[in-house]
Amino acid sequence: MGQLIDGKAVAARVRAEVKAEVERLKAERGLVPGLTVVRVGEDPASKIYVNGKKKAAEEVGFNSWEEHPDASITEEELLSVVEKLNEDPAVHGILVQLPLPKHINAERIISAVRPEKDADGFHPLNAGNLSLGKPGPRPCTPYGVMRLLREVGCNPEGKKAVVVGRSNIVGKPMALLLLEANATVTLCHSKTPDLAAEVAQADIVVAAVGVAEIIKGAWIKPGAVVIDVGMNRMPDGKLKGDVEFAAAQERASFITPVPGGVGPMTIAMLMRNTLDAAKGRD
Ligand code: NDP
Repeated sequence: MGQLIDGKAVAARVRAEVKAEVERLKAERGLVPGLTVVRVGEDPASKIYVNGKKKAAEEVGFNSWEEHPDASITEEELLSVVEKLNEDPAVHGILVQLPLPKHINAERIISAVRPEKDADGFHPLNAGNLSLGKPGPRPCTPYGVMRLLREVGCNPEGKKAVVVGRSNIVGKPMALLLLEANATVTLCHSKTPDLAAEVAQADIVVAAVGVAEIIKGAWIKPGAVVIDVGMNRMPDGKLKGDVEFAAAQERASFITPVPGGVGPMTIAMLMRNTLDAAKGRD
């Protein structure tokens, strides 16, 4: 029976580490890290996410601000908001909450954020740095997964890792981070012909698909570490992961629950990225 990986507890530990470093920065350099979240319009899910981020930022001792323009803002006006934040020395991290309204080109906005202030790690330059193995902010969700692996003593080196899903925010950077950690990585997607056979080979499985229980418990190699990034809202309002949890837990050595696994890590790693931005560029 696989042990549960308690993402809430690990995320709390990451936030406590960040908080301790913030106190040291304040004492030694008089520096307070600052994070600004840009939320355009009234997407209800975005509001919940942004509130969670602001709360975490305040808790670790950052200055935190929200820019909240109306959904009718033009792309040029939003670029000016980003430009103003780029120039503001008190702002070390900028996060543009997605999705943006349809009339705004999200790629153009993300690319306008100064790469050193890119708290999400989504800027093309930072994506490039990740693929080149160079330092820089890492996309928060896969970065959080790497921390969870470390917490359970799972060193990816020499292991076979299978990542399911190749989005730019989760699957692709996840594969690159595992590769950087010397795993042998397979990246699966919707055109992968035999997902079961791929997953069955994996010592580490990371599921980031967005389809409830697409990864069957019977596919899991005995002793594998299973990380479920999926968050699928069911008709009864409950959240389900991409992995058939109970059956997978029978075979796994460690497994993340949904909710309470990867989810809490994303915001915690956002705090880490912002702190590192402040430390590096004072
Ligand atoms: P995307 O929809 O951007 O990407 C989904 C990926 O899954 C695509 O690469 C797609 O392949 C692949 N896929 C779809 N169907 C299949 C299939 N039948 N077999 C194999 N692969 C398939 O999703 P995201 O990466 O943004 O998110 C994935 C999940 O993670 C979602 O549930 C999301 O809610 C959750 N999430 C959780 C976060 C957290 O903090 N815990 C943060 C971000 C996301 P293809 O490229 O071929 O289309």
